[in-house]
Amino acid sequence: MSDCLFCKIFKKEISSRIVYEDNEIMAFEDINPQAPVHLLIIPAKHIESINDIKEEDKELIGKMFLIAKKIAKEKGLSESGYRTIFNTGKDAGQAVFHIHLHLLGGRKMSWPPG
Ligand code: 5GP
Ligand code: ZN
Repeated sequence: MSDCLFCKIFKKEISSRIVYEDNEIMAFEDINPQAPVHLLIIPAKHIESINDIKEEDKELIGKMFLIAKKIAKEKGLSESGYRTIFNTGKDAGQAVFHIHLHLLGGRKMSWPPG
């Protein structure tokens, strides 16, 4: 998708503070962090949301969680805890329609979320 913000970030046409990258997945700092650690984990593949994931994407989505786990460990969050979120659609406040896993940590979070 040529006009997608996160496709452009993956291709480095727009700069971001990258914390992990391979040929399939990138993690970078959220531009408007909601916690001391707030990263976005995205696939290179343009998938709009959970509504659009297919059987063939299950390994990719699983890998996004393995990378979340690895980064959480590197950031010292494994014991204190962290939150991983996919916002889907209007009611969840999804703003960018290229699937992304939020990784938030470094502070106590409330439940239920707002
Ligand atoms: P959503 O609401 O779609 O789940 O989350 C989109 C996230 O992308 C927001 O947390 C927002 O701060 C972040 N974001 C939007 N534009 C940019 C950008 O250009 N660069 C980075 N690093 N993050 C962005
Ligand atoms: Zn995209």
